[in-house]
Amino acid sequence: MSLEDCIYRSYNPERRPSHPWPSWHNHTGSHPRFSFCPTPGLSIARYEEAFRQEPDAWECFAISDHAFSIAIPEPGKSWPHVWYEDESILDTFRATGDTQRRFKAYREFCESFRDGVKFFTGMEIESSLSGRMSATMEEMEGLDLIIGSIHHNPGEPEKWVERHFFQLGRALALPCDIIGHPVRHLRAHSTQEQPLPEEIIDETLDMIKAAGVAIEINAHYPQIQDDVLMLRGACERGMEVAFSMDLHYPEEFGNWRYFEDVVELSEINYDDLKLFHPRRSAVPGKMEAV
Ligand SMILES: [Zn+2]
Ligand SMILES: [Zn+2]
Repeated sequence: MSLEDCIYRSYNPERRPSHPWPSWHNHTGSHPRFSFCPTPGLSIARYEEAFRQEPDAWECFAISDHAFSIAIPEPGKSWPHVWYEDESILDTFRATGDTQRRFKAYREFCESFRDGVKFFTGMEIESSLSGRMSATMEEMEGLDLIIGSIHHNPGEPEKWVERHFFQLGRALALPCDIIGHPVRHLRAHSTQEQPLPEEIIDETLDMIKAAGVAIEINAHYPQIQDDVLMLRGACERGMEVAFSMDLHYPEEFGNWRYFEDVVELSEINYDDLKLFHPRRSAVPGKMEAV
């Protein structure tokens, strides 16, 4: 996907914010690069500028950089593709002390901007095949929220549904408050004309609800046909919803339009949604969820 693919264009060119939006999942790319995927221009100063540029669009941002790129300071080795099945890479950087130093620096970074009103702090975590995280519980202490996401889902292509539910169970067994982009890894099986089967969305929501975790409507890779179904299903189940830009590039700040479109197409009043708010009560889920 190119940068252009990540810029959402509303079907309504006149779109204005109907209210200020939270964005509970976002990255930074500025020095010292706690996430490697965003561009360096995506700094806290750039987020502050967003409040000045579009005050009607923004309620708050949470910064939730990738645990794996904090834990593993070498970009080529940090993505779960490298360590999902081989955790020795995690151990290597812990043995040098680099991992511990990076998590300490991330905590100090978070303390430098958090105000609990406009800026919150978090982390995006993921599971190895065996269920291990790249951060420890102590390294997540004091953050406002934790997002559990699936970034690597290897295996037999024809077993994509089984692999999805296996991975979702793994993510829900982590101490997370939100499941990030719950069906992004299934987007190859979804088109505007033919969204993901409703049974997959339903079972996904049922599992997330049973774990007491919020779902995310994520604007980074628009998947509107599935997100409309997911928002409706979450509302029917009384589940918490976290709206997240998952910002990687400054050019994506206009993507609040995605939230407006998803809510409008789902025919739900924003005020009727059970919105996520940080409370940091996340505890490791139950492995029976797998
Ligand atoms: Zn993610
Ligand atoms: Zn992310």
